[in-house]
Amino acid sequence: MPASPADLPKIWLSSPHLGEQELQFVNEAFADNWIAPLGPHVNGFEKDLQDYNEVPHAAVLSSGTAAMHLALDMLDVGPGDKVICQSFTFCGSSHPVTYLGAQPVFVDSEADSWNMCPQALERALADLGEAQKPKAIIPVHLYGNPAQMEEILSIAERYQVPVVEDAAESLGSTYRGQKTGSLGDMAIYSFNGNKIITTSGGGALVSPQQHYVEQARFLATQARDEAPHYQHSRIGYNYRLSNVLAGIGRGQMAVLDERIAQRQANFRHYRHLFETQIQEKGYRVYFQQELPDCVSNRWLTTLLMKPAENQGKTREDLRLALAEQNIEARPLWKPMHLQPVFKDAPAYVDGTSEGLFNIGLCLPSSSNITDEQREFVVEKVREYFGM
Ligand SMILES: *Cc1c(COP(=O)(O)O)cnc(C)c1O
Repeated sequence: MPASPADLPKIWLSSPHLGEQELQFVNEAFADNWIAPLGPHVNGFEKDLQDYNEVPHAAVLSSGTAAMHLALDMLDVGPGDKVICQSFTFCGSSHPVTYLGAQPVFVDSEADSWNMCPQALERALADLGEAQKPKAIIPVHLYGNPAQMEEILSIAERYQVPVVEDAAESLGSTYRGQKTGSLGDMAIYSFNGNKIITTSGGGALVSPQQHYVEQARFLATQARDEAPHYQHSRIGYNYRLSNVLAGIGRGQMAVLDERIAQRQANFRHYRHLFETQIQEKGYRVYFQQELPDCVSNRWLTTLLMKPAENQGKTREDLRLALAEQNIEARPLWKPMHLQPVFKDAPAYVDGTSEGLFNIGLCLPSSSNITDEQREFVVEKVREYFGM
């Protein structure tokens, strides 16, 4: 009798993948009693990130969202201010705007990279004008795929607005030879459990400018003035990363390039399936495109499935067919300008991200997916397409 779906082990979209060295670092933290949001692993993890990304300053923090909150606080974002966000993203880019009493202004994506459209950005900036000049621009490298950074940075410079890269999903991806996260005034990374490397929960803020990272450390430790007693001249946050978790991060940094290679291999494997056998059956799907001279870490393999080119089949039918086999696939991020919580936010959109959301699907992309599991996914996709 065939196994029923409930008996099948779940194949996750993106699961944590830890090794031996992580545990050694954690044991070290226990042995040395560095059980605090500071210590040698915190410093070591920061150095690893700086070296890897070729960015001179880094502070590790409790989450990517916390990092974005601090970045915006340091750019003096406050009540009544505007911040330009890529609409097509996870809420970790845009919620911190609201924490500070400011309003996000959403900008649509372009069809190639699926990231912030430079023309839409320019329209938003021109329209807001000097009176409502935004305090920051937050492009995202979605699913690991680098955004049009040269165009975005040059527009930002012309309008004199700082850029905070949301590189939460793109650790290790490169834009014309430079690591994503090293290009803007500041950038954030995330080490949440589903990201390419993880500390269970965690994040980082990096910058070419020392003062931002020093100020981030100050704000992340409750804004304590220099004094023997506890004294505060402003409000701070409790956002530092635990030394125990930073130990996990150091172990993960040692295998980051392997993890990227594994995710990229997943992508090539799926693409091969769709571009050979499934295409020969008369179906057609599209994968997220890298811009010229850019390399995506392929955090998640994502595809687009137009019903009109697939005999009426939809990504939702495919998702449900996979779910029946205990295979986790997921629609693309729902654009922020379509979220109920942001229904009143201004949006410069032309339907691109909404269109991507409607027909896009993320496939199981873990770096520790086994060959057998990946074959099982492929077999079920083939079955779905009647093969
Ligand atoms: C994961 C993520 C974040 C931040 O996430 P945390 O879970 O707070 O670490 C921010 N932006 C994007 C695009 C993300 O995917």
